[in-house]
Amino acid sequence: MQLDTDITYISGIGPKRAATLCAELGIRTVEDLITHYPYRYVDRSRFGRIAEINESTSYIQLKGRIVSMEKRGEGRSQRLVARFTDGSGYIELVWFKGIRFVEDKYRLNFDYIVFGKVALFGQMYNIAHPEVESYNEVNVKRNLGWQAFYNTTEKMKSSYLNSEALRKANYSVLAGTQLEIPETLPESLLKKFSLMPRHEAIRQVHFPKSTELLNVAQKRLKFEELFYIQLSIIRQSKLRSQHYQGYVFGHIGDYFNRFYKECLPFELTNAQKKVLKEIRLDLASGKQMNRLLQGDVGSGKTMVALMSCLMAIDNQFQACIMAPTEILATQHYNSIVEQTERIGLNVKLLTGSTRKKERLQIAQELQNGALHILIGTHALIEDSVQFKNLGLVIIDEQHRFGVAQRAKLWAKNVQPPHILVMTATPIPRTLAMTIYGDLEVSVIDELPPGRKPIATHHLFDNKRDKLNSFIDKQIKMGRQVYIVYPLIQESEKFDYKNLEMGYLYMREVFPDYQISMVHGKLKPAEKENEMQRFLRHETQIMVATTVIEVGVNVPNASVMVIESAERFGLSQLHQLRGRVGRGAEQSYCVLMSSYKISNDTRKRLQIMVDSTDGFHIAEADLNLRGPGDLDGTIQSGLPFDLKIANIASDGPILQVARQVAKDLLDEDPLLEKPEHLILVQQLKKLQRTAVNWGVIS
Ligand code: ADP
Ligand code: MG
Repeated sequence: MQLDTDITYISGIGPKRAATLCAELGIRTVEDLITHYPYRYVDRSRFGRIAEINESTSYIQLKGRIVSMEKRGEGRSQRLVARFTDGSGYIELVWFKGIRFVEDKYRLNFDYIVFGKVALFGQMYNIAHPEVESYNEVNVKRNLGWQAFYNTTEKMKSSYLNSEALRKANYSVLAGTQLEIPETLPESLLKKFSLMPRHEAIRQVHFPKSTELLNVAQKRLKFEELFYIQLSIIRQSKLRSQHYQGYVFGHIGDYFNRFYKECLPFELTNAQKKVLKEIRLDLASGKQMNRLLQGDVGSGKTMVALMSCLMAIDNQFQACIMAPTEILATQHYNSIVEQTERIGLNVKLLTGSTRKKERLQIAQELQNGALHILIGTHALIEDSVQFKNLGLVIIDEQHRFGVAQRAKLWAKNVQPPHILVMTATPIPRTLAMTIYGDLEVSVIDELPPGRKPIATHHLFDNKRDKLNSFIDKQIKMGRQVYIVYPLIQESEKFDYKNLEMGYLYMREVFPDYQISMVHGKLKPAEKENEMQRFLRHETQIMVATTVIEVGVNVPNASVMVIESAERFGLSQLHQLRGRVGRGAEQSYCVLMSSYKISNDTRKRLQIMVDSTDGFHIAEADLNLRGPGDLDGTIQSGLPFDLKIANIASDGPILQVARQVAKDLLDEDPLLEKPEHLILVQQLKKLQRTAVNWGVIS
């Protein structure tokens, strides 16, 4: 057996289970299986005794015999109950499913190993759906120790691919030494950092002999993972700065100056000025710019984008701005056209619903250079969009775009254009640098003056009357209201508010008001139409899903109600809240939740109530939930998926891994030394399995 052996060769995994594993977790080969790491461990290093069980007992492993079995209950509530003893007392083993199978399989008065979670039912302790195995040498050997638990899905469980099945599959692959697991790190690194060899680490991580060995094994695997990510990112950025020169935007010209003097509708904030200076230096430096612009919602990133475009145009280059949704692209287009009317810019909009005739016109003007700024959705990256001389690409709300999509923009001129990526998801700065390699980071850390902080409240569902009378008062004062729902269709499993139900409910409560509804399943034109109606104040209430999350600008809307707020991540709540507070009026955000929420959830919502600082919230979110949930921003920015390391909690390992990768590349930039061959091979392998990372950070 080898790492690339198909999993159907593992005993107990036939074609059907293999197909499920592949569909659910992408596991095809032995290597995929053994790198699907456990998410937690339970102590099975000893046999417990029934007499010792008390309220604090959670998992227990017992050795003993079944003395009787009987079915109880009727129909759906029927269950099989086995009385089990180890000599020190009795406990019940209970099955609700697979009763016939269990009945046939287990025998009375035969030695078994039983393992499971203890619960108190009535006066009696029981274990529901325990693991039961014959007590023999092989089984004892496999089970004794720290036992790993694996993430599985509902579909897997229904094909009996539960955690236990995965453990057994791993055991049959990893027990003994038939499977060769080659080393992936150079000898020198293993020595220098006393890292456990890979084959041992993998075996320990699935079947730990002790907690100490488990820790050493995990550390080794996390280091490897983070090290290769850093190696890949740093190497790419080195290659990039060697290969690509940047277009030089040497001077500030007429367009910029006239705009600044005649059209600028407000004084720039100091933060905007600072960022524009940073961008200006980049654009004139002769190196290709790759800059991430972070700025909280409402901090005025669009103006920075526009003025950067003017720098390009003054130097005979074209610019484009790409937004994640049609609504947002249209909004950018409208405001930029309005603001630049006096200086005679040629600005066009290209989205999925642009008509053919208009498309042809755009294509022509792009090629003859008449078009200055093209604004659009991902329609911009299509190969048919060809510029005469593209110099600057601005990507708004970056996390919505995949890496591969962005890479295509690079190819739109002889040399790659300058890139400015704008995001309102505040990634803590150190983290951003670490993850994006040498992507430069600019921050707008100041809001335009005169903004009143948004007052945020958390209400339970039973206070709905109070909410409704508040909404009514605000609308009577001339304001508009957003109501955001997490789901479009009723989910059977969860009792979350449904958008359509919510819409009908609002119509019932407010028969005199006009209500818009926007969700992801509308056609772009319908969506746009509803948004426009709301913007023109023809409707007072906008009921929507999170499609309105990014960018929509309706200054007169002053109330944001978020239904089932417990369903959203903090960053997303913050983003949604940023839709209000854009005008002169005092704005409000109301987080509605069910009364039955956990303490953690209550804490999270309280963070929103207490703070309007996006960075503070992002950091709190990171601490509470880990980075996997930062809207996928961070995860999607990585060249390979993380399987064992965690960017937030493994910070110290990450720092070391980064430094090691840096030193190594300083010493051997092209990885030509014989001892580094192993690195090149492993990078190639990782890149094959990941999306084409291209050259963009
Ligand atoms: P975001 O950073 O969320 O994209 P926008 O660029 O949409 O923010 O700006 C939010 C609002 O603030 C817009 O209405 C914009 O015109 C306004 N704005 C931007 N900069 C300033 C400024 N310096 N002074 C006053 N208003 C500003
Ligand atoms: Mg914006």
